[in-house]
Amino acid sequence: MQKDTAVFSLIQKELERQRRGIELIASENFASLQTIQAMGNVMTNKYAEGYPGRRYYGGCEVVDESEQLAIDRLKQIFNIEYANVQPHSGAQANAAVMLAVLQPGDPILGLDLSMGGHLTHGSSVNFSGKLYQPHFYGVKKETGTVDYDMLEAKAKEVKPKLIVCGASAYSRDWDYVRIRKVADEVGALIMADIAHPAGLIAKKLLNDPFEHCHIVTSTTHKTLRGPRGGIIMVRKDGENPLGLKDNKGNVRMMSNVLDMALFPGTQGGPLEHIIAAKAIAFGEILTEEFTVYAKQIISNAQAMAKALRDKNYNSISDGTDNHLLLIDLRNKNISGKKAEQVLGKADITVNKNMVPFDDKSAFVTSGIRVGVPAVTTRGMKEEHMQFIVDCMDDCLTHADDEAYLSNVKKKVNEFMQQFPLYPELG
Ligand SMILES: *Cc1c(COP(=O)(O)O)cnc(C)c1O
Repeated sequence: MQKDTAVFSLIQKELERQRRGIELIASENFASLQTIQAMGNVMTNKYAEGYPGRRYYGGCEVVDESEQLAIDRLKQIFNIEYANVQPHSGAQANAAVMLAVLQPGDPILGLDLSMGGHLTHGSSVNFSGKLYQPHFYGVKKETGTVDYDMLEAKAKEVKPKLIVCGASAYSRDWDYVRIRKVADEVGALIMADIAHPAGLIAKKLLNDPFEHCHIVTSTTHKTLRGPRGGIIMVRKDGENPLGLKDNKGNVRMMSNVLDMALFPGTQGGPLEHIIAAKAIAFGEILTEEFTVYAKQIISNAQAMAKALRDKNYNSISDGTDNHLLLIDLRNKNISGKKAEQVLGKADITVNKNMVPFDDKSAFVTSGIRVGVPAVTTRGMKEEHMQFIVDCMDDCLTHADDEAYLSNVKKKVNEFMQQFPLYPELG
């Protein structure tokens, strides 16, 4: 069959875009070449509904081995008893957990979307806010850090069945001990959604959620640097703490309830080709090289925080514990939307983001979110963060000067040539 050049030329164009730009979107990364190549494999042809050793189709003996390898490696990374590697995405992982532990209409408590939370933590436009009764906690105005007193007060008021912690635009670590104390008092389960910092948690550079949170979900493509996908994990399996029953009325093991909620609860056939790529990425995470990478992420984020502070940029909570910063641009007289556009003209990719207590809409916003996982994968170190911040500042202070921006773009493209991306792809 003739090669589809229309699509392949777009894939090539996207590779070139990724190569020449500075990628600061905090949720993005560059998976290894072997991870990417593994995604395009013949396992996509295989139906494998069910789990290794208990499938609804014949011919699953090989994908059983590969899925089991992914599970075993993931368990080893986090030192846990249960892992499900089938969720197609982070959102799917969260949907399955909520289906498993909640009834429609049950109250849930999560971090407000406009304060850094995620759509799947109760937003009114998402299944989590439509099927369940969402309530929110926020961050403190003075410090930008999670308001645990508010979390506790809300929990006592609304008696959530599930407390969700974790975020998409929060630069500080979490106090899981405090959340567990609240959860135990009100009889709630905790889901820690570590989609963003999972790679740092894997290397024990942040607090361990597994000890205190009943269920942990994540994506696999952010700091874990794997293929696009999701995972569900539990540290200690056992009859689940709320005595949840299956549809025959039996109290089931946590693992069983979660497995069933993912399939057949919310998904059909697993993406075995992606699961093979997850196994590869998990293998990479277990290496010393990834430990060095995770530590470099934190060093780079700290260096970027300092460079930004030196140029009088305000970040929420005035710094970071992890891989990202949420910059409040209100003292710079430029909106998040405009900043995103202007930086884009110089091939610096960020996303506009609401800041806590924002007076602008989600379409405009007062802030931008920047993260260093992708540039760290490209090979950048602390000293390169200064160059990035200088370029950003140059753009934002010449926002309407097209010629100036195009000059910065040239500088950026030249700079990026030091950091080859997928050189094997030509
Ligand atoms: C990115 C993210 C998700 C969703 O992941 P998708 O794979 O995009 O569905 C869920 N929760 C949090 C906190 C995230 O940051």
